[in-house]
Amino acid sequence: METSKQAPLLRELKNYLIHLKDLGYTDIPLEADLFADAQKGNVPLDSHPPQSLNKMVSKNNKSLIAVRQELGDCTRCKLSEGRKNIVFGSGNPNADLVFVGEGPGADEDEQGFPFVGRAGKKLTEIIEKGMGLNREKDTYICNIVKCRPPGNRDPEADEIAACKPFLIQQLKAIKPKVIVALGKPAASTLLGRNVPITKERGTWHEYEGIKLMLTYHPAYLIRFPTLENRKAVHEDIKKVLKELKK
Ligand code: URA
Repeated sequence: METSKQAPLLRELKNYLIHLKDLGYTDIPLEADLFADAQKGNVPLDSHPPQSLNKMVSKNNKSLIAVRQELGDCTRCKLSEGRKNIVFGSGNPNADLVFVGEGPGADEDEQGFPFVGRAGKKLTEIIEKGMGLNREKDTYICNIVKCRPPGNRDPEADEIAACKPFLIQQLKAIKPKVIVALGKPAASTLLGRNVPITKERGTWHEYEGIKLMLTYHPAYLIRFPTLENRKAVHEDIKKVLKELKK
C-alpha cells in the first residue's frame, strides 16, 4: 500500500485502539475480520466492532460499546464544531464507583480521555491516595458533556440536553453501586434541578436507584485549596468508601 494511504489508516487504527482501551479492553484478538474491515478502509472503524470482540466482554461492557456506537461521530450540538476528540469515558466498565465531571478541558480534548489534566491529577490523587483505590480498575470516569466547551466555559443547557441521554445510558450500562457528582453542573444534571453545591455536598441522593454523592469538583479544590474545602471532600469520599464496603 502507498505510504500516503497508510497514514490515515494508521491514524484510524490508533484511534480505534484508544477507543477499545477506553471501553475497558486489555487484549485484542488478531482475527481476519478486524483487518479485512481496516483494509477495506471502512471509516470510522469503531462503527462496526467485530463480533469476536463483543463476545469477549460482559453484558455491561457490551452495552457500553453500544452506547459509544450510538454516539458515533456526534454532531448533535455545537460543541462538536470545535472538538478534537470525543471524550466518552474511561476506566472499568464494571466498576462499583462512577465519577461524573463537567466536560473535557484542553488536555482531555487533545488526548480523548477524561480527567488527564491538572484537575485529573487531583482526582487521581483523591481516588488513589484518599480512597486507596485504583483509578483504572476500581472506577469509571465520564462527564456530562463529551466534547470540550470552548475556552473551558460551562456547558450550556442545549449542549447538556443533547449529551445527557448518553450519560444516562452509560450509567445504565455500568450499573455502579455509587455515583459521585463532581461539582454543581454534574450534580444539577443528574438531579434535574439547580443544586447549590456548597450546601448539598456531602449529602446522599439517589439517581435511578443508585446512591449519589455530591462533592466539589477537583478544579475547585485546585482554585480554593483551603483546609475547609479539602476536609469537606475528604469527608465526602469517606462516606462513599463506607457505602462501597456495605
Ligand atoms: N474537568 C472535567 O469536568 N472533566 C474532565 O474530563 C476534565 C476536567
